Amino acid sequence: MKFKKSDFSVSCFFAFILILITFNANEKAFSQSSIFTTISNTQGRGHFADDRQLTSGRRLRFLAPPSNNITPDAIQQIGPHNSVKLHFVRSIKNAWTPISGLPVTMANSPLKTAFIGRQALGPVTDQNGVIEFASCTAGGNVLIQLSLNNEKISVINGRLFYKISLQIPCGTEAAIQFKEDSFAGQVFGIWQVAQRAGYVLSTVSDLSFWKRKIRFSFPDSADYYNFDTVHLTLGHQWDVVAHEMGHAIYDQANIGQFGGGDHKIDECYSNELGLSEGWASFFAAWTQIALNDPNAHFEYMVPRRAPIQVEHVPADVCGKSQSEWRVFSFLWDLIDLNNDGEVSVVESKKLWDDLLGARISSIDSAYKRLQTRGWNQNELRQVWNLNFPAEPK
Ligand SMILES: [Zn+2]
Repeated sequence: MKFKKSDFSVSCFFAFILILITFNANEKAFSQSSIFTTISNTQGRGHFADDRQLTSGRRLRFLAPPSNNITPDAIQQIGPHNSVKLHFVRSIKNAWTPISGLPVTMANSPLKTAFIGRQALGPVTDQNGVIEFASCTAGGNVLIQLSLNNEKISVINGRLFYKISLQIPCGTEAAIQFKEDSFAGQVFGIWQVAQRAGYVLSTVSDLSFWKRKIRFSFPDSADYYNFDTVHLTLGHQWDVVAHEMGHAIYDQANIGQFGGGDHKIDECYSNELGLSEGWASFFAAWTQIALNDPNAHFEYMVPRRAPIQVEHVPADVCGKSQSEWRVFSFLWDLIDLNNDGEVSVVESKKLWDDLLGARISSIDSAYKRLQTRGWNQNELRQVWNLNFPAEPK
């Protein structure tokens, strides 16, 4: 592509871009007003995870989000085109990354929006973040619209989906650019993480377990999961976003129980809390980090211990099976492709299949379940002993 990071500073906005200010109440009511009351009232009831310790325990709050209508950080013209071709990209660590799976529609074109109920049907950006429209009327503008909403996920501001509306001249190829941590960049960062996780899941599952839409509420005043809604203080924290989504997947896949209460990553707590928090971080690692990464680590999670290592758990961390850190390191070691003293390389599909619907209450019950499902007993025990030094088998 012909555009560079520095293009932000010369931000070549089209003068004719018209951001349409339209509010569209298309999401059921959702209250953000009493989040901490919610946290205290739902402790220990299940379907709930309090992750205030994951982001240092401080309340991080965006003041008044602008609206559900957001604008790109820049629109960079690439060249002429016989219709309209758009590249949706977001910069991460100074590199452009594609934003795939975006349901983009062009009004008054052969691919104009169709609806089933309130669900917009139409084309989506491909794996390169690109969408190309068949034709448009020369000399005119076309209305490009997208909502961050599909049948599995949505990103919401209170009760509204985030959306973008742009007027683009017919005959244009352009890059729709987002910065890593601008407001709009964080909204699209959430979409990227969820999209990538959904893709990884689709490689091991037909997704029939995923029956309820997962809503990502941003900006919110704490990081937590509560009954199909993920609440996020910051959208560019990919590991925290993926961890919270992990709770939602764990919930719908009926993998195990939720433990109640606040938690510190280097301590031990209940079996249920160690398992549910550990599995959520395992999900973040599995879906967002390369399995052969010898330095697999999180970036933003738990600032006082960052970067949190996935492969190597520090010796001062509680060594028992009620440690969430050791739970995700154990699960990672079963499927990863990096040999750090263990030789287990099980297809992630087998681990997924064997814990789907398991309704377990501890990582020890997960271990016992795997023992009965054709896993190599010696490798399983080796990985256990490597990760839970205080409870050898
Ligand atoms: Zn959690």
